Amino acid sequence: MMHRAKRSLGQNFLQDPNVAQKIVRVFDAKPDEAVVEIGPGKGALTALLLQSIPHCTVIELDNELAPFLQEQFGEKITVIHNDILSVSLTELREQLGKPIRLLGNIPYNITTPILFHVVDSLPAVKDFMVMMQTEVAQRIVAKPRTKEYGILSILLQYFSTPKMQFQVSKNSFFPIPNVSSAIVHLDFEKPFPNRAQNEALFRKIVRGTFGKRRKTLRNGLKGLDVPVTEFEKLSVDLELRPEELSVADFVQLSNELIHCAPQILNTATEEVDG
Ligand code: SAH
Repeated sequence: MMHRAKRSLGQNFLQDPNVAQKIVRVFDAKPDEAVVEIGPGKGALTALLLQSIPHCTVIELDNELAPFLQEQFGEKITVIHNDILSVSLTELREQLGKPIRLLGNIPYNITTPILFHVVDSLPAVKDFMVMMQTEVAQRIVAKPRTKEYGILSILLQYFSTPKMQFQVSKNSFFPIPNVSSAIVHLDFEKPFPNRAQNEALFRKIVRGTFGKRRKTLRNGLKGLDVPVTEFEKLSVDLELRPEELSVADFVQLSNELIHCAPQILNTATEEVDG
């Protein structure tokens, strides 16, 4: 079809059939699974998916591409013509009757909001195979004490097992993007083994302390209105900076702070995605 790529919708269509094949092969969808593709575009991945499964659901925002896809694939797909960020994955999971397997080469400018949308929909989503900017992929799999390690690393390593699958050349897309890309797999069925007793509190502490990256934990916790009288009860060294704490350390810290949760949960923290 004639379609002019829309920059506003982050459209970089996969052109290289070998890359598309590889993504779908690694994703390995089975006929009885509830597969949902985000941002299918002209159907580069959809067509390959439908070689191994009889049906899938696609979520596409573009006014021309949504009807085009329906016409192209007919009854084999259910098209949700909407913004992924407005689609309730929890309701979709109810309709489909089983946890969702997500796949998508999605717009880079909304990668982080989409990741948070998916995390907020758990346990509706089983796993997510997603194309993203290499730099964001590196942040997701980063280890403590590196410059890439941050909120995204901790939250995704807490809620899933993230795996960097492979790099994708810029030349595999049209139009050619400015940044290099990578495919990441997030397995939400294998979350971090230690659990936070209050996940809202855990997220708040991660966000609140990393918001001030150069500050020590002591100062970060003060900023969250944790009473100084609580500090001596904590087992973690408060002179450390947030990037020196592992996921396990953050889980433990949030569990130790649980009895002063009311104050912390009322403290506003910026929604930063660093
Ligand atoms: N998956 C296709 C297209 C990638 S381009 C391929 O690999 O070729 C990204 C796609 O996401 C485009 O089709 C774009 O229209 C769609 N898109 C952009 N913003 C979206 C949103 N908020 N919700 C759903 N789809 C969106």
